[in-house]
Amino acid sequence: MESSPPPPPPHALVIPYPAQGHVISLMELSHRLVDRGFVVTFVNTDFDHARVVASLPGPRPRTGPTPLRLVSIPDGLEPCADRNDIKRLTLAVQEYMPECLEELLMRAASEGSPVTCVIADHCMAWALDVAKKMGLRAAAFSTASASMLVMALSIPKMIDDGTIGDDGVPTEPNRMIRLSPEMPPMNTTHVWWNRFGDPSTNRVLFDYITRGNKSIDTAAEWVLCNSFSHVESSIFKYASIVRPIGPLLPGVRPGRPVGRYWPEDSSCEEWLDKQPPKSVVYVAFGSFTVFDPRQFQELALGLELMGQRFLWVVRPDVTEKMNRAFPRGFEERVAGRGRMVGWSPQQRVLAHPSVACFMSHCGWNSTMEGVTNGVPFLCWPYFADQFLNESYICDSWKIGLRLCKDVEGIVTKEEIEAKVEALLSDGEVVGRALELKEMAAMSISEGGSSYDNFNEFVDSMKTFV
Ligand code: UDP
Repeated sequence: MESSPPPPPPHALVIPYPAQGHVISLMELSHRLVDRGFVVTFVNTDFDHARVVASLPGPRPRTGPTPLRLVSIPDGLEPCADRNDIKRLTLAVQEYMPECLEELLMRAASEGSPVTCVIADHCMAWALDVAKKMGLRAAAFSTASASMLVMALSIPKMIDDGTIGDDGVPTEPNRMIRLSPEMPPMNTTHVWWNRFGDPSTNRVLFDYITRGNKSIDTAAEWVLCNSFSHVESSIFKYASIVRPIGPLLPGVRPGRPVGRYWPEDSSCEEWLDKQPPKSVVYVAFGSFTVFDPRQFQELALGLELMGQRFLWVVRPDVTEKMNRAFPRGFEERVAGRGRMVGWSPQQRVLAHPSVACFMSHCGWNSTMEGVTNGVPFLCWPYFADQFLNESYICDSWKIGLRLCKDVEGIVTKEEIEAKVEALLSDGEVVGRALELKEMAAMSISEGGSSYDNFNEFVDSMKTFV
């Protein structure tokens, strides 16, 4: 008797919001699904797809049936539009992408490779509606902290109790609130959808998130996030629907795509190899932060003044705008102890024994990567949830210090010098960072809560096929 062919593997469609931190985090999740026997179709926007593919090392990936398929759909903006304009990007994405995603899912089915589940970035929650419409299972994944996600899910409650108005704006700025009695207090100035710069962008984001909440409510079977229980335990008690599966460690799998937009300059690792242990201040502000020329210059002067070794990521798009803002003769004066790169292999840099601390914008991925490597922080948040993350780092976990602005809104060179010195001489902060590293490692090891949550999720998603 002929044996029947094995069932096809489960097929997940993974879709990130088109921003670097989101793409990297969901790419790592995809690798983990592939490791567990899934086929993954990873959907970038056309614009991001071109950048991700161009930044892959070595030969272009095969287009044939590999377990991780990189595909793309349009984001609805013209090719030369500024994708850092979050308002325009978000409006276009929600208007244009759902239909394209539906077509892609139908095409996959007609080509004999039907998708069995959709894993949507929490910031692409409309994709959950598309999944539901097509009878597919769906999960939401937040690339940010659980508290950011839970704050978003608490919008109706916050409107009801008068914490925010119908427009998402806090009714009383700088007030400490609690989402539940057992949760730590939060400052209303950290209401993250209100931290995108101008009021009209804040409003667009607020409406987008509010709509997303409904999609999560009605269509998401799982709500996952890149965090771990030890760092946000009260949030997980309060909102048990949110399950941590992190920290995810991007870029630790040689030869597999990381999802970066810019090619990595790994020469800085050789430079790090030559520096004494715990001597280098790593300075990186993620994929989005843009300082004005005066602040950029002051930062350079601060790095010069502090006298420590440093590795500073100055992204190619920042260099284009800021080149003239480097103080005259800066590069010559810091030669030997200072190194600038366009884009670093951040996860490996943070794991390097020469790195002493991380001057960071406190994006959630950077926060988790610093925590995972036991590196203390100097916090310099820029927008969105980064203020919330800064508060975690400095007030809750106590593994970092704030860089404070002066009356003109500038972080001065003297502040940089003073805080670097204070951080590096504070054995308690450094010690706590190392303790948290242990906790992070335990959560993703066998028997850890993130490990168990991920297993449960994978098993549940597999049973459908
Ligand atoms: N990153 C990197 N090289 C760099 C700077 C950043 O690989 O030189 C990665 C970093 O490891 C993280 C992501 O880019 O995974 C940035 O995400 P995050 O949430 O920290 O900040 P965002 O870019 O979203 O503001």
